[in-house]
Amino acid sequence: MTQDVQQTLSIIKPDAVQRDFIGNIISRFEGAGLKIVAMQMKQLSKSEAETFYAIHKERPFFGELVDFISSDKVVIMVLEGEDAIQANRDIMGATNPDDAKAGTIRHDISLSIGENSVHGSDSEANAKIEIEQFFPEILK
Ligand code: ADP
Ligand code: MG
Repeated sequence: MTQDVQQTLSIIKPDAVQRDFIGNIISRFEGAGLKIVAMQMKQLSKSEAETFYAIHKERPFFGELVDFISSDKVVIMVLEGEDAIQANRDIMGATNPDDAKAGTIRHDISLSIGENSVHGSDSEANAKIEIEQFFPEILK
């Protein structure tokens, strides 16, 4: 059975950018057949971070989340490929690095549940919303 080609939003978070893991992380995506079709490096403003994480605004760690993602430069990408949303989540690993399987980004690279190196969209609906925020021109 062939899977649908999807787009998903990936962010390399400040902890991974600071520790020079950009190339390592991008290699994992490309090596797994996910194509980078848009990419930008920037520091998010607090307001951009609040918009991006709006889905989590009721969670107790929302302030921490917004402060961290806007604390330094990030790399924002659109990845495209078959079943890209789940494929990216598999490469990322579990949210908490202590629970992430060996060979995943979060197991191999991440420092803590907050400083967990990567973001990846969790559904088609959220991928659309997230891509729209940063790369509206690329949305299919
Ligand atoms: P994921 O990034 O795996 O999709 P969530 O969407 O549940 O995870 O949470 C968004 C981000 O919020 C996580 O990547 C993580 O950095 C942070 N986070 C999640 N749970 C906690 C927690 N209990 N304490 C601190 N930060 C958290
Ligand atoms: Mg999430």
